[in-house]
Amino acid sequence: MKDDCIFCKIAAGQIPSATLYEDGDFRVILDLGPAARGHALILPKEHFADLSEINDETAEKVLPLAKKMSAAMTKALGCAGMNLVQNNGEAAGQTVRHFHMHIIPRYENGPKMVEWEPGKLEEADKVQIVEAIKAAL
Ligand code: AMP
Ligand code: ZN
Repeated sequence: MKDDCIFCKIAAGQIPSATLYEDGDFRVILDLGPAARGHALILPKEHFADLSEINDETAEKVLPLAKKMSAAMTKALGCAGMNLVQNNGEAAGQTVRHFHMHIIPRYENGPKMVEWEPGKLEEADKVQIVEAIKAAL
C-alpha cells in the first residue's frame, strides 16, 4: 500500500466507495465521474502504478473479473455493449497512478467515446514496427 495513493485507500476500505464487488485481491467500485451510467473501476488491493508494474498473478485475474462484472452489469443495467479501458501513463490519459481497469457500459444512442480517426498502415512502416517490437520481446 502506498501512503499517498487514493485508490490504495479506497481498495483497502479506508475511504468509502460505492463497492460493487470485493475479494482478497480486488475491489470494484463505481467511478465518481462516470462516462456512462454504471461506469465501474476494477482496483487491485496491491499498489501497482500501471501495466508495467503489475505482477502476472494479479494481471491474470483482471480479465476474468472484468468478464464477471460485465455479465452482471449487462443483466442489471440493460446496456447494449461494454468498453474495457485501461490507461497507462499521463500521455495515455492516466490520472490516478494506481493500476485500474474501466468497465464502461455502452447504451444505444449513448455518448460517443473511445473512438479515433483510422490512419493507414504503410508497408515500410509496418515492416519496421514489426521488426522493432519482435526484437524487443
Ligand atoms: P484514469 O484517467 O484512467 O486514471 O481514470 C481515473 C478515474 O478515476 C476517472 O474516471 C475518475 O473519474 C475516477 N476517480 C477519481 N477519483 C475517484 C474516487 N475517489 N472514486 C471513484 N472514482 C474516482
Ligand atoms: Zn495505490
